[in-house]
Amino acid sequence: MTAAPQALTTLRVPFSDLAAQTAEIRSELDAAWTQVVDSGRFVGGSVVEGFEQEWADYCGARWTVSVANGTDSLQLILRALGIGRGDEVIVPANSFIATAEAVALVGATPRFVDVDPRTLLIDAAQVAAALTPRTAAVIAVHLYGQMADMTALKTVTERAGLALIEDAAQGHGAYCGDARAGSVGIAGSFSFYPGKNLGAFGDGGAVTTSDERLAARLRSIRDHGRSDSDRYRHDTLGTNSRLDALQAAVLSIKVKHLDAWTEARRAVAQDYREQLPDGLVQLVEETPSTPSVYHLAVVRTTQRDDAVSGLARAGVETGVHYPVPCHLQGPFRRYSPGPLPVTELAADQILSLPMFPHMTHQQVSYVCETLSSAVTPG
Ligand SMILES: *Cc1c(COP(=O)(O)O)cnc(C)c1O
Repeated sequence: MTAAPQALTTLRVPFSDLAAQTAEIRSELDAAWTQVVDSGRFVGGSVVEGFEQEWADYCGARWTVSVANGTDSLQLILRALGIGRGDEVIVPANSFIATAEAVALVGATPRFVDVDPRTLLIDAAQVAAALTPRTAAVIAVHLYGQMADMTALKTVTERAGLALIEDAAQGHGAYCGDARAGSVGIAGSFSFYPGKNLGAFGDGGAVTTSDERLAARLRSIRDHGRSDSDRYRHDTLGTNSRLDALQAAVLSIKVKHLDAWTEARRAVAQDYREQLPDGLVQLVEETPSTPSVYHLAVVRTTQRDDAVSGLARAGVETGVHYPVPCHLQGPFRRYSPGPLPVTELAADQILSLPMFPHMTHQQVSYVCETLSSAVTPG
């Protein structure tokens, strides 16, 4: 056996590195947590309300209603809009399972549509073709960090009189033209799961909206359907889906760093673009009007198995988002519209490379060099 060069055997590249992010803001975190602990106010209160205002301002929406996670935020939006049994909600087949899950959990029917072959995002033409008299809403997913073409989607949904909802769990701070994720549709849904671009130290989520009545309904539903004026009156069927003050404190600190971390992610993506093996492995396309916040660095290759095993042997962690499209997952097969060729082909070719704000040029080069030797031309 010939010995590999030392650098190749010792450098390990994690898929993500939350510890580096935490270290950067450690002293701010310690102070904020102490304040919450001393206040004795752990659910709701000024720290949560403060973050809600910051997040609304950041997204360019009028209100933020924080909730327990990014699946609840989707479900609560649907419930607050009165969507349920008998309604159809159009969702992209290429997404995290939670998008369709939320639709089914409120009793509505997910209608899966195929995605744009370049961006792998929901395609307005496919949406238009899937409309039926029962369609009540469309959920656009800003997958991998890139906003869907909201201009085209808005044209379709406005013409049909439908609610346009944004699943922005992977799109914190992303733009479509001048508009930020969470400010275009009737409501935007965010997750603050630790690995998201803005992540808490546990679960968290939020809805952004500029619709006053919708915001009020969401505030009530997340808190047992409580009436605004009388805490012992419950006007609607609600649930318990609230954000903890400790999580809000973390998010308030992190949101101040989010733009810098996004810039760092974009620089990593550019570095990948310059070093990936030409023609064999390419990043999923980014359109000029929808610059990505690179939640994930997703590439396409026809040699994915070789790429994954080569990278794994060299200590590089990878993922696949997602290997089984939603319409082919167990609970959703009964809603399957038949083959969705763009999504199904992509599911066999996509590969998520390491991506995090503190990733170094050396790490990117190592991933690209390893990839270049794992895949072969022709
Ligand atoms: C993470 C994610 C969700 C769900 O968020 P949770 O906070 O984990 O419930 C929903 N949609 C997409 C696209 C996601 O990536």
